[in-house]
Amino acid sequence: MARIETPKRIRGTQDIFGDEQRRFARVLEAFETVRRLYAFRRLEIPVFEATEVFSRSLGETTDVVSKEMYTFEDKSQRSITLRPEFTAGIARAYLTEGWQQYAPLKLVTTGPVFRYEAPQAGRYRQFHQLDAEVIGAAEPAADVELLVFADQLLRELGIQDGVTLQLNTLGDAETRDAWRAALITYFGQHRADLSAESQDRLERNPLRILDSKDPRDRPIADAAPDIDAFMTSEAGAFFESVTKGLDAAGVAWTRNARLVRGLDYYRHTAFEFVTDRLGAQGTVLAGGRYDGLIGALGGNETPGVGWAAGVERLAMLIDEPAAERIDAVIVPMGEAAEARATGILADLRRAGIATDMAFKGNMKRRLAKADAQGARFAIIIGDDELAKGAAAVKILGAGTQSEVPFGDLARILSA
Ligand code: ATP
Ligand code: MG
Repeated sequence: MARIETPKRIRGTQDIFGDEQRRFARVLEAFETVRRLYAFRRLEIPVFEATEVFSRSLGETTDVVSKEMYTFEDKSQRSITLRPEFTAGIARAYLTEGWQQYAPLKLVTTGPVFRYEAPQAGRYRQFHQLDAEVIGAAEPAADVELLVFADQLLRELGIQDGVTLQLNTLGDAETRDAWRAALITYFGQHRADLSAESQDRLERNPLRILDSKDPRDRPIADAAPDIDAFMTSEAGAFFESVTKGLDAAGVAWTRNARLVRGLDYYRHTAFEFVTDRLGAQGTVLAGGRYDGLIGALGGNETPGVGWAAGVERLAMLIDEPAAERIDAVIVPMGEAAEARATGILADLRRAGIATDMAFKGNMKRRLAKADAQGARFAIIIGDDELAKGAAAVKILGAGTQSEVPFGDLARILSA
């Protein structure tokens, strides 16, 4: 009979285990620690939504909507999309659940997101994001808080030195419209020299040409008009408050006048935390203010600001976390000992002592495994120990051994 072929892992997805998993878990832990310090509340939202949640809020001209979404029809012929990011789903939840009553809301969530793009190091089709949002606050203080939060996350992970905060403003609606019109005129004059993709973007999404990576576009994009000449005084004052807040909080930043966000709903603050340690995939965390989003989803105009970070990219940057260690292993010798050991194992674990016992094996193998697990104690139970009602407890590494009555194990090992 022909052997059945094992199914393959889908391209762009990951099976995360071992060292890689420890890095991944460390990033999530650090995020959890910092979000508590900043009083952000956790929320969970669906992995899939009606397609229009993303198409209406991200804009049809963005890369994500035009090329990268996993969209399919379910069995009732509804168009469904796997979330390519969190912000749109959170805004949808805010509206459908009537969370206006809690505004301003400081929220975080984490989990997998899906984008159909070319897989490479640091770029996957199912990847994971950390996400932080403030909904219902128009004040620049909200932007500052999110940026200081992001900076502290990098400090918590020990990677703040290799990562730079690049900051820009996209102005208010009036500023952005005037700048956009000027960019269309300017790029129109250079149309023939632009890449095909940028020519295509010219009318629909001219801001995106500014951060094009195509070498043909770069000199033209670099000489394009800055937003500063079009800034209303309100938009200028907003940006100044943000930068003053960052200075007050001791968060270093640099202005990058070419930084734009791909998504149409961004206003005012736009930012990226960038490193040169990950090659082309150097953006580890990105976000900005999206005052236009909730209106685009049919809600009352509601300001919002937030960021998302790639868990995998952060995980690649951190030092390798220490291996997980356990407190003790039990080494039973013989059937009677094994039965008694099963009870002791349960008691120790219930007492909060991380304890393991192999499913089988002789003393030598069990002790070798205990070493590999980094255990501090080996609790040896054989016929003699059963008779005495006390285990032989070996302090691994030190090589010393003492006798501990079964009933005292939990107390003595947790001391
Ligand atoms: P990029 O320019 O790298 O494509 P992006 O602008 O599409 O990034 P955002 O939509 O801002 O990224 O997503 C926030 C963060 O999620 C990014 O800064 C990055 O760390 C991470 N990220 C984005 N796409 C991927 C991916 N395909 N695989 C892994 N991480 C990703
Ligand atoms: Mg992308």
